[in-house]
Amino acid sequence: MTQGKKRIPADVKLDMKHLATVEVPGRDFLLAHGACTGAEPGIFFPPISYEGEREFWDTGPAKAICGSCRIRIPCLAYANSQNTIVHTRGVWGGRSRDERRSIHNALRYRERTRDIA
Ligand code: SF4
Repeated sequence: MTQGKKRIPADVKLDMKHLATVEVPGRDFLLAHGACTGAEPGIFFPPISYEGEREFWDTGPAKAICGSCRIRIPCLAYANSQNTIVHTRGVWGGRSRDERRSIHNALRYRERTRDIA
C-alpha cells in the first residue's frame, strides 16, 4: 500500500477529494469484484476504429452495469493510473473516456494547487 493512501469502502459516491485519496487497486482486484467480470468486452469498449466514441458509441449499457458495481471508485482510480490504449478508451468506473479525462485533469489541478492555497 502506498504511504498516505487509504483503503476506502468500495461503494462510495464519486467525490474528487475522496478519489484523490484512494489506493489504486490491482487488476486482479477489479476482476474479482467488478460487476463487469464475464461481460462482453464490446459493451465496455468501442470498436477499435472508432476515435470519436462520444459521438458514435453508446456508453449507456456499460454505465448501467457500472451503476450496480461496488468498486466504481477504485476502478476509476485504476484507470486513471494507467496510460495504455486499453485504459484510455471505453468505460471504466462508470465514466466515459472524456469524463475520465476531465476527472484526471481536475485531480492534477488539485495536486498542483494544493500547496498554494
Ligand atoms: S466500475 Fe464498471 S468497469 Fe469498473 S469494475 Fe465495475 S463494472 Fe467493471
